[in-house]
Amino acid sequence: MSKGIEIIDVGGVNCYLLEADDGFVLIDTGFSAKRMFLDEVLKKALNKPGEVPKKLKLVILTHGDSDHAGNCKFLRENYDVKIAMHFEDSKMVENGDMSWNRKLKPDKIAFTFRLVTLAFGKNSIFDTFKPDIYIQDGQNLAEFGLSAKVIHLPGHSKGSIGVLTSEGDLFCGDLIYNFAGFSYIDNLEDFNESINKLKKLDINILYPGHGKPFSINYFNKKFV
Ligand SMILES: [Zn+2]
Repeated sequence: MSKGIEIIDVGGVNCYLLEADDGFVLIDTGFSAKRMFLDEVLKKALNKPGEVPKKLKLVILTHGDSDHAGNCKFLRENYDVKIAMHFEDSKMVENGDMSWNRKLKPDKIAFTFRLVTLAFGKNSIFDTFKPDIYIQDGQNLAEFGLSAKVIHLPGHSKGSIGVLTSEGDLFCGDLIYNFAGFSYIDNLEDFNESINKLKKLDINILYPGHGKPFSINYFNKKFV
């Protein structure tokens, strides 16, 4: 794992705190039910003893699902931070409707995924919000102090994106799970195109929304 990446597990959802030029960028925010934990970790990271306090410069959402977007409103209000995401998932978070811009029935969904969402699915309150910034494919994140760019990776949802750093770290959201055989593919055609897109990029390590980071070798074996 590259330095300057802190993984914050917010209720089974990976949030990634990246060191940027004079501050931090947070990728995804986790479940609202685990808000206090996220708040605590962030405060610690931004206010290291003996150092000048640092700012959270930007929150980037890999997609609009409530387990990733659950703390955006809270962070905006308490950290004075802007929320960036792809337009094609925007009404999910504005309306609190995770089915917006998705198929009536997803093309592929793992049995284990169904089991877990049946057990936990509806117990998280979601604070709706309007995103501040819409990001799109190829967008350079240098203006936020991050040597990285946005990759549009639809499949799990229409507005799913990844963030690829110049060091080859890819934050891929829920395009690929690394947890309990999970998969949730809304649109299989989009998904396959996104996988093919990734094969052409310079990636070392993939950081999924759920489960442990894995190498590009594992990715290549999984998607031959
Ligand atoms: Zn998720």
